[in-house]
Amino acid sequence: MVENDKGFTTKMLTTAFLKEDPFNSLNMPVYETVAFEFDSAEDIAEAFQDKKAAHAYSRSSNPTVEYLERKIISATGGRAALALSSGMAAISNTIIALVKPGENIISSPNLFGHTYGLFSKTLPDLGIEVRFADLLNPAGIEKICDEKTKMLFFETVTNPQLEVVNIPELVKIARKNDMLVVADSTLTPPNVFNAKSFGIDIELMSSTKFISGGATSVGGVIVDTGNNSWESSEILSNFYEKKKEMAFIAKLRKEVFRHLGNCMSPRTAQLQSMGLDILALRVERSFTNCLNLTEHLTGHPDVKKIKYPGMPGSEFYDLSKNQFGGVPGTILTFDLESEKACFSFMNKLQVIRRATNMNDNKSLIIHPWSTIYFEYSEALRLEMGVHETMLRLSVGIEDIDDLIEDIDLALK
Ligand SMILES: *Cc1c(COP(=O)(O)O)cnc(C)c1O
Repeated sequence: MVENDKGFTTKMLTTAFLKEDPFNSLNMPVYETVAFEFDSAEDIAEAFQDKKAAHAYSRSSNPTVEYLERKIISATGGRAALALSSGMAAISNTIIALVKPGENIISSPNLFGHTYGLFSKTLPDLGIEVRFADLLNPAGIEKICDEKTKMLFFETVTNPQLEVVNIPELVKIARKNDMLVVADSTLTPPNVFNAKSFGIDIELMSSTKFISGGATSVGGVIVDTGNNSWESSEILSNFYEKKKEMAFIAKLRKEVFRHLGNCMSPRTAQLQSMGLDILALRVERSFTNCLNLTEHLTGHPDVKKIKYPGMPGSEFYDLSKNQFGGVPGTILTFDLESEKACFSFMNKLQVIRRATNMNDNKSLIIHPWSTIYFEYSEALRLEMGVHETMLRLSVGIEDIDDLIEDIDLALK
């Protein structure tokens, strides 16, 4: 087994199996099974009484899923990880495990669309209030928090606004006011962003995006970064007594995650394990393409307001350097003259695909105004930084000359 001071990709390629495979398989096999047999009645009793770690039933745990969790721990340096059926499951399970009805959390309204839906519709129905603040001006947080505020939730890079929050400032304010810090780092994968080193308590990712290895499968992960001992957490006190610093993951595994039933399938776990092996290569290539395209678009007379926080000249360039090693994801937005011009441009594309989703190997384009955000009023869309003339491009790994040619032909 290789020690842990290796580079990201080496770590991913050398993460050991928990048990030796009887056939020396090099890839973790897909344990597509529901139940696991025990040698004796005593053994199965010990497993159920939590005296011995063992897989018993695949909704609770599974060897292939556990292997992905081990790779996520290795990728993030976290204390523990849990893989779930989707990114939304990672977000909802985390909040349900840590916030009670009558309590509240603070977040920005600039969020992934369904996260905004969860925060503005579903959580309030469960009695959990979400207070929205402009997280680019963290001072405002202190004006709206109170003793019932339990959590600060933010995305490392917002989408499609492509704003970058100042993470150390947010963490400082959250600490001062006794809030947990939860970050959705989906846009900035673990090879460019280390949530643990920024003092974040819990990191959430939609593994559907970069981690899946090119849009192979839907999934999500929760990472306990190890920054919080959970000793002073009231809602975890039962679990802290027995499980100490594993209290948060234990509550998920024994209660919330197991009872809500949003497990990841073994097949997905294998795909995403292999996705992690090539993550850094894909991010590098998409990033180079992304920079090239921002440069190319900048010179074009029909293109306005190009936004990419990683491009020199962006107001978020320095934060992107300090927080994400200069790689704030690989999504950019730009504006054309009108909605009609956007549609006409999209319809002429041959290489770039018309689809939602992000961080596929393929470059994907969408007109957020008429699709993802259509359910919201025009006023709310504008407030969210979504304009009629804006296109969002998730840059893939195609050959750059072909992407540029595709764009140039479609702009004609
Ligand atoms: C896609 C996405 C999610 C939701 O993930 P799913 O896997 O689709 O459930 C959450 N947050 C961000 C930032 C995303 O991009």
